[in-house]
Amino acid sequence: MRQPKIVIVGAGLVGGSAALFVASTIPSAEIVIIDMARVRAEGQVLDLAHAATFWGHNRFHAGEYDDARNADIIVITAGVGVKPGQTRLDIAKTNAEIACEILDRTAPLAPDAIYVVATNPCDVLAGAVFDRLGCDRQRVISTGTSLDTGRLRALLSERLGVVASAIHAYVLGEHGESALIAWSGATVCGMTLDMFLSRSGKELGPASRDLILRSVHEAAKLIKEGKGSTHYGIASAIARICEAIVHNTDLILTVGVVHAEVEGVADVCLSLPMVINGNGAQLLAYPALDETEREALLRSAHIMKEATDRVLTDQ
Ligand code: NAD
Repeated sequence: MRQPKIVIVGAGLVGGSAALFVASTIPSAEIVIIDMARVRAEGQVLDLAHAATFWGHNRFHAGEYDDARNADIIVITAGVGVKPGQTRLDIAKTNAEIACEILDRTAPLAPDAIYVVATNPCDVLAGAVFDRLGCDRQRVISTGTSLDTGRLRALLSERLGVVASAIHAYVLGEHGESALIAWSGATVCGMTLDMFLSRSGKELGPASRDLILRSVHEAAKLIKEGKGSTHYGIASAIARICEAIVHNTDLILTVGVVHAEVEGVADVCLSLPMVINGNGAQLLAYPALDETEREALLRSAHIMKEATDRVLTDQ
């Protein structure tokens, strides 16, 4: 079997951590790390090669764009980060230019690659990459709210005293301020959330639900206050996305693609529960939402659409 080739562009904290998680999740993968600061990519590769001696046989190398030839997956983690006082949307133009430059350098060499965009604002950037690439919708994936959903499940697990894998609850919409929780479809141990609450005697009222949403929104800020940046969570999500593509696993995660239409808004990138496999990410079934959730999703879709259109007009 051909060795899967995964190219990570951006050798910062997110890119380096993603390489580590991808390597441990897909031990057969060849991992190429590219960065405008070549020395940074080389440093990551050396450190990772030493780490990998303890568990496997990964091939890492620091590359130039030529090394993206025939890549199966191109992960974009290059760009500037969100500074205190900024939102993810404030860095859209700069990072969209970087993402499009990466696309221009890699697409001719890897025409069949699936793109995974983690650089923020990831939904807007995936929209810009998709617009420029003009490929199947499923082949440009924003990491979207995969991480937010992980954060939600961690919070609910703690609150309900149930392992996260028994909780199916999703954060939808923008990876950012307008994200929403689809409470109405949440299930715990195979029961609707409300049934689980009434049978277990636990409570999760409107104030607690609002607090959980705020905690999901503010998780990145909290982590940054403590350690300066967030990278393990998103790196883990990137690895799971790559694994689902390479091993064709039909994994369900909340990631974004440019949907033909969401709540009446056309061609917009935001997250819904998507099936991920060797073809990329696809929506199999539109989620059942109540009226409040649909309104919140519509609002998020408008925000994403406007932010993406602004970036596309500026280019
Ligand atoms: P970082 O500053 O540590 O690394 C960014 C890297 O990108 C640097 O090594 C830099 O040299 C490189 N780079 C910049 N411009 C480039 C270009 N034109 N070509 C090639 N390389 C270039 O930042 P980080 O902490 O790794 O974060 C990277 C991005 O990931 C940020 O946008 C951050 O907001 C985002 N992020 C996303 C999520 C998510 O859930 N989607 C979570 C955490 C961080």
